[in-house]
Amino acid sequence: MRGLLRGEGTLDLGSAYELHPQAAIRAEAFGGLAYHYGNRRLALVKDPALAQLVRDLAHHRSLGEALAAGPVAEERQEAVLGALGSLLRSGMVRRKEPEADPPALPGGEGAPPPARAASRSLAGRLSGGLSAPICLTWELTYACNLACIHCLSSSGRRDPNELRTDQARALIDELAALSVFYVNIGGGEPTVRADFYDLVTYAVERGVGVKFSTNGSTLTRKRATQLAAMAYVDVQVSLDGATPATNDAVRGPGSFATARRAMDHLAEAGFGPFKLSVVVTRHNIDELDRLEALATAYGAQLRLTRLRPSGRGAASWERLHPTPEQRRHLYAWLRDRPHVLTGDSFFHLSALGPALPGLNLCGAGRVVCLVDPLGDVYACPFTLHPEFRAGSVLDPGGFTAVWRSSELFAGLRRPSSPGACSSCGSYDACRGGCLAAKFFTGLPLDGPDPECALGHGEEALARVPAGRAPSPGAGHSRPAAVPVPSPARR
Ligand code: SF4
Ligand code: SF4
Repeated sequence: MRGLLRGEGTLDLGSAYELHPQAAIRAEAFGGLAYHYGNRRLALVKDPALAQLVRDLAHHRSLGEALAAGPVAEERQEAVLGALGSLLRSGMVRRKEPEADPPALPGGEGAPPPARAASRSLAGRLSGGLSAPICLTWELTYACNLACIHCLSSSGRRDPNELRTDQARALIDELAALSVFYVNIGGGEPTVRADFYDLVTYAVERGVGVKFSTNGSTLTRKRATQLAAMAYVDVQVSLDGATPATNDAVRGPGSFATARRAMDHLAEAGFGPFKLSVVVTRHNIDELDRLEALATAYGAQLRLTRLRPSGRGAASWERLHPTPEQRRHLYAWLRDRPHVLTGDSFFHLSALGPALPGLNLCGAGRVVCLVDPLGDVYACPFTLHPEFRAGSVLDPGGFTAVWRSSELFAGLRRPSSPGACSSCGSYDACRGGCLAAKFFTGLPLDGPDPECALGHGEEALARVPAGRAPSPGAGHSRPAAVPVPSPARR
């Protein structure tokens, strides 16, 4: 059986293969998760036997030898090899020079966990929870030199109880032991922490990739050059409009120039495709084409995020969130642009037609969580409220115990009732939308999203009694207006 697949992804039983040196694979109950730090692709390996085969490849002189020794039952071999061909084409696996004496298989390591029902859907597999989060957001500090009116964590002032450097390092050690592929670092403005770059370096050295979000105010030319030289670090510059007028109305006067200066520095330093991160609002939705052109001009990737009514966004959501007509326009715009990154932001719009690319379920506590600057763990970055606090990384057992044993997360991973969405024909696509958006607008968690694509959100919101929506709390906002720092020039 030679040449199982044609073209670049051709597998040859006589050739040797290996997991790409820039990729990692982590065992999960359903098989495994593979992540490529170079092209930043994530792949679901839906079969424990395939996951095992991928781990074993480098220890054999040929694919045929790996199959002969491996855990793939004969009747499964064709399907498993088809999936292996996909991993080859995506760069997760590569051909390697055969070695006379490949490294021996480590004893017992990597034995696949028991498989769960192989026929479960992707959403079903992810809903049940993973051994570690796919997407862990870590807000390093509440300190911020801006005061954006939609800030999800109401940042401004540093909290005196924020994790110390040694505690932050201990958390990184734990994330490395859990094979967390990368962390999304945010804040506040994370770069204002004096130990920020030390922590980034510490994480990368331990195999935990870093993506960090910044308003750009500290991103000097020198910093951009240093970042361009670091593997496994990705940067997201936040900009909420294609013009200073649109952006600065939300992020503060001068913030557009500050972000553009940082983008100039990254491009000049040859950083590569950094992310241009935009929160979609009623006021910038007409500028999406210009924002996309701006990202392209910088060699950057556009990343769109949904505005949620969390933090200071609770007070500004009503006037900033897109209108129903704008949401329909956004759906069509995204359908035409599968290259635009969106994470889990817009799956509620998939009720309008074919599903949008991205994570099509609420991952809160299942594949996503947040660690706040104090070390408290929440279900997701947009659920900073005591009701969604699962524990603390400082508790006995640390983050691992919170992720694996918290009652809150166990509840979020159990199948939930669709409630008022049960009669909706689009439930499989939309699954009732975003938990955080429902919670902070006072809607029942088992009902429609406030921005339900079919219009049921507006009806539901009209029934919410005044004062019912939970308060996001005082947060760390500063009492007075915040001057925006000058763009970092050097
Ligand atoms: S609550 Fe909303 S923002 Fe949080 S993970 Fe779920 S869908 Fe995403
Ligand atoms: S009714 Fe519920 S499931 Fe249907 S589209 Fe609206 S939010 Fe989604």
